[in-house]
Amino acid sequence: MVHDCYVTNRASEVPASGPNETERNNMRLLIMGPQGVGKGTQAALLSEHYGIPAISTGDIFRYNIKNKTDLGVEALKYIDKGELVPDELTNKIVKDRLAMDDAKNGWILDGYPRNASQVEALDAILEELNTPLDAVVALDADHDVLMERMKKRAEIEGRSDDTPEAIAKRLDVYAKETAPLLDIYQKRGLLKTFDGVGAVDEIQATIVAKLG
Ligand code: ADP
Repeated sequence: MVHDCYVTNRASEVPASGPNETERNNMRLLIMGPQGVGKGTQAALLSEHYGIPAISTGDIFRYNIKNKTDLGVEALKYIDKGELVPDELTNKIVKDRLAMDDAKNGWILDGYPRNASQVEALDAILEELNTPLDAVVALDADHDVLMERMKKRAEIEGRSDDTPEAIAKRLDVYAKETAPLLDIYQKRGLLKTFDGVGAVDEIQATIVAKLG
């Protein structure tokens, strides 16, 4: 059986000293963009700024892999090949995570949705919770910049899916399945695109200024 805390992860923890209830902004955000563009970094800063949990599906899977839960064992089969974990599993962890107490006043989702079927699943989850999306933050950077950052990150983090084959596969999946989702959110009037190159703090300030 999958352990109760399988949907938590370190990135989702709101610091105890974070903003109080009245300062919370009720923001519900997606952060999207290619591998290496800095989604995790900006998600953590937005989490702090708005006092909302940053929820990364990749972090949740890695947490479960580390703790050898059933979910982790299953997810690892796909992750190490750079493939997407099946939607059924992924949609369920997002649904459970967004229903948790600390997500009542907003959240930022990093790494989800990643294909058209996950967009549909997220729409259904949000309709059920009666909490529409506020915005989709898209980060972008040149191919060369992304490659350089991925190489550095691979050296520092040593993730099991940082083999050249798995990296290539992840980039391919992003281009084929995830990048087209930006159009969907653009048509819905939710997309806000930012340059992912520059000082981390400045990028953050630009995002916050645009989100309000
Ligand atoms: P990256 O953005 O560098 O690929 P992530 O931490 O977002 O890293 O994801 C790592 C892996 O976790 C993905 O390659 C995939 O196998 C799995 N994963 C994360 N999010 C999803 C998702 N929404 N749907 C399916 N698989 C996912």
